[in-house]
Amino acid sequence: MKVYFVGAGPGDKDLITIKGFNLLRRTEYCIYAGSLVNKELLSALPPNAKKYDSSKMNLENIVDVFKEAKTMNKDLVRLHSGDPAIYGAIQEQMHALNELEIPYEIVPGVSSFVAAAAALNQELTLPGVTQTIVITRMEGNTPMPEKEHLSKLAPSTPTLCIFLSIEKISEIVKILLPHYGKDCPIAVVYKASWPEQKIIRSRLSNIEKTVQDEAITKTAMIIVGHVLDKEFERSILYSENTCKKQ
Ligand code: SAH
Repeated sequence: MKVYFVGAGPGDKDLITIKGFNLLRRTEYCIYAGSLVNKELLSALPPNAKKYDSSKMNLENIVDVFKEAKTMNKDLVRLHSGDPAIYGAIQEQMHALNELEIPYEIVPGVSSFVAAAAALNQELTLPGVTQTIVITRMEGNTPMPEKEHLSKLAPSTPTLCIFLSIEKISEIVKILLPHYGKDCPIAVVYKASWPEQKIIRSRLSNIEKTVQDEAITKTAMIIVGHVLDKEFERSILYSENTCKKQ
């Protein structure tokens, strides 16, 4: 018996890995993140599979299902949105599995920040602009370590991918303005890869109003940085003068 933490991808059911999909097809226990995972994926499970929506469960409830699957000697898929390693709360589940001596494996997934970049037709690391992406969030119920406050990350002006924070857009703009400037491009992608996907492109000085006008209050990726401008240098990787791949 084994537990598989599977990345379901950002929404589009075709964006799960083949490995993850094949596991769904043969697994009789599944705990899925009901708020963000595409429920169409659940139809891949065997007909009598037991399905549990983790958005209605706490860690103890989840562990109880792990124990039940162990008693029944059945594998279990724990389906997480995007990639399980990013804001997925998987470490505490693996800790519980260690204590229960249940083996586990992680199958990665397409995170929503790369799905948002794809929706924007955008590279996030452009030569001459930035070679760094910062994945971060604003403080919510989970406290933010002081030294990772957005104001501390902003001075080096990397490409920012801000999760879980659309309702804090006005605070984000205030913090970023002195570092990125009012004309810095910013994009908000609502439900990247879902049929209801919405893309907003704006400048730091205008984004708050646009987000309000579009009434976007959840499931959105905020991408900020000068990579969203048109200017960049050609890559060295594919330059005529060098064949040296990095
Ligand atoms: N593990 C997930 C993130 C879970 S945290 C991943 O790798 O994507 C939930 C946050 O992810 C949301 O608040 C939102 O900021 C972002 N998110 C998840 N799915 C999204 C989607 N389809 N489009 C835009 N943002 C999404």
